[in-house]
Amino acid sequence: MNEYDSNRIADLLYTINYKKTEEVENADCFIFNTCHIREKATQKVYSDIGKIKKILRGRLSKPLFVLAGCVAQAESSMVFEKSDFVDIVVGPQAYHKLPELIKNYQSNKTKSLNTNLDVSDKFDSLERYKNASSKVSSFITIQEGCDKFCKFCVVPYTRGPEFSRCPKQIYNEVQGLVEGGTKEIILLGQNVSSYKNKDINLSRLIDKVASIKKLERIRFTTSHPNDFNDDLINAFKYQDKLMPQLHLPVQSGSNKILESMNRKHTREFYLKLIDKFRDIKKDIEFSSDFIVGYPGETDKDFDDTLDLVDKVKFSNSYSFVYSQRPGTPAVDFDQIPKEVSSSRLEILQNKLFDLQRKFNDSAVNSKTKVLVENITKQGNQFFGRNEYMQPVFIEGNKCTPGQIEIVEVKSSNRHNLWGSVDNN
Ligand code: SAH
Ligand code: SF4
Repeated sequence: MNEYDSNRIADLLYTINYKKTEEVENADCFIFNTCHIREKATQKVYSDIGKIKKILRGRLSKPLFVLAGCVAQAESSMVFEKSDFVDIVVGPQAYHKLPELIKNYQSNKTKSLNTNLDVSDKFDSLERYKNASSKVSSFITIQEGCDKFCKFCVVPYTRGPEFSRCPKQIYNEVQGLVEGGTKEIILLGQNVSSYKNKDINLSRLIDKVASIKKLERIRFTTSHPNDFNDDLINAFKYQDKLMPQLHLPVQSGSNKILESMNRKHTREFYLKLIDKFRDIKKDIEFSSDFIVGYPGETDKDFDDTLDLVDKVKFSNSYSFVYSQRPGTPAVDFDQIPKEVSSSRLEILQNKLFDLQRKFNDSAVNSKTKVLVENITKQGNQFFGRNEYMQPVFIEGNKCTPGQIEIVEVKSSNRHNLWGSVDNN
């Protein structure tokens, strides 16, 4: 979502005569769009500010520096205390005000802070600016915020309450992206599966978006297991443009931990949901997110997570050591030792990586449909993704970005597939 937000910030700044540059040394304005989900991401912000200061040492004029995103939201005016380099602090629901805030700064040089959480105001303002980031595969935010309050998570505090954008606004934005060359759209939300605007839920929105003729593929992320009604499950059966790959975070395989996290579902519920999907679509694949070392996690709880992984056989997953986030309930729980968490993470990742490798290897000597995104820097291969989101490198120079090619897969590793276009 930060990538989408950053693109939209670029669209906004274009209207006040800024354009993107790769030349750090000569930039007039820096905008850091930040993530607060884990502590590491937050620490990185201040160390990256230090790096920029170092690069610019000796320069006569100080560039304008904007801190945007969820760190800005969470740290608010503390940002100014921690770094005198920052001029404007703007939260994730207030960045549409940047042209005005920047102009104000240019005329009176006073620092400003804007952490309003009124997301509807943001999207109504953004509607006036064209989304100029049409890539073959493009993101669009359709939903933001969260009302679920998992006890480890900062999202409800940094992105605010759940909000679903107006379907017409979404349709028009996707249409614009498709006119610019987009073939695949990834519908984004912190809780995308709970999308609901009046009587339009996610499955109906997918149908609407799918009616855009030149759009070939649709995906959505990130979902919560409790949000899937039959309509949304069946969409994977009847909606040809919806890709057979779903990111469905489970976090833990232990019922005790799931309850303590306030996830409001059990491992049995999750496993049943996976079965339901597989019943209606045999070839669907799943990826997930896991947190290890959550307060109270015993060896037995961790074994339950490993067991769930064995049962589902995820094709790809993300796993993290639990990170204490200020202001969330789990911060005050008894924490487990860091060494225990790190060794569990290693064990879990070995299992997940092994599954990913096996899944990739199983594609070798078969054909796969790849949406070609671009030619590689070396110019001798094309890059694209297949229906399961696997990155595929295609030999030769016969492909056209934006086309779907049937690729004969010849080799694989854990991350990628390699193949060539089948001319038969
Ligand atoms: N809405 C999604 C997740 C959004 S946050 C869901 O309900 O599953 C993205 C991922 O970051 C989460 O799935 C979780 O695995 C991870 N995450 C969030 N808070 C975390 C924390 N405090 N420590 C470690 N990982 C965390
Ligand atoms: Fe965070 Fe997802 Fe839980 Fe919401 S549902 S609190 S975004 S982990």
